[in-house]
Amino acid sequence: MGEYDGIKALVTGGGSGIGRATAELLHARGAQVAVLDLDPSGAPEGTFGIRCDVSQDDEVRAAVEAAAEQGGGIDVVVNNAGIGAQGDVTANSDDEWHRVLDINVLGIVRVTRAALSHLRTSEHAAVVNTCSIAGWAGLPQRALYSASKGAVQALTLAMAADHVREGIRINCVNPGTADTPWVGRLLEAAADPAAERAALEARQPTGRLVSAADVAQAICYLASPGSSSTTGTVLAVDGGMYGLRVRPS
Ligand code: NAD
Repeated sequence: MGEYDGIKALVTGGGSGIGRATAELLHARGAQVAVLDLDPSGAPEGTFGIRCDVSQDDEVRAAVEAAAEQGGGIDVVVNNAGIGAQGDVTANSDDEWHRVLDINVLGIVRVTRAALSHLRTSEHAAVVNTCSIAGWAGLPQRALYSASKGAVQALTLAMAADHVREGIRINCVNPGTADTPWVGRLLEAAADPAAERAALEARQPTGRLVSAADVAQAICYLASPGSSSTTGTVLAVDGGMYGLRVRPS
């Protein structure tokens, strides 16, 4: 028997990067996995892709119910879908602030809310939110993104307190700069992508970017029955950047 045999998991943003690596690992370990994504074509083989925009409540409710129906319930929710934003506090319009908060923060509220009745009847209920070291550290030129991830971290702890007596564990991971298509897009937009990548790597205490697979391992630990005494925690997967107080620029 695998560690996740019988576990029904739902992963948002599971069509790419960290979410895709997580969906793949959960599936490989025996879970039944539904992937909710704007573009479900990237859902790993063996998982069930459902198109869903986490900023649309009606789509979220329908997708969560479809996942529950397909799997026969929901034990694990990985709230991973998110988008980025650059710049200081003057850089983004009110509409941009609303959009990023709507996806990164309210997306988690909508999905968790829609899955709650299923989680309440599960023997192994766990929610894992993908936050960021931006939610902890004062990163330059990330005002909006940091605000959204700070909110994700606080929301994680508040939800963990609210639902602990219902047997639902809620934790988050804080990745550092991870080698995903998202970061690939940022590098491609740089004047010299190779030099930019080398600079990013040089800033990591480990000398390399975090891999999506490393973050997936941490998420899977927090989602697994093996972490049954862990709730309300923030697990950094950042190559030591936050704990060792390295300032990215
Ligand atoms: P990615 O762009 O590779 O993947 C994100 C996925 O989310 C995509 O499949 C996309 O279609 C989906 N998505 C975006 N908006 C959505 C929406 N409204 N509804 C449903 N799906 C949506 O990104 P990634 O690097 O894997 O990032 C995943 C998460 O990790 C994000 O929450 C991000 O903030 C967080 N994170 C990433 C890094 C990093 O360096 N890559 C670091 C810290 C935290």
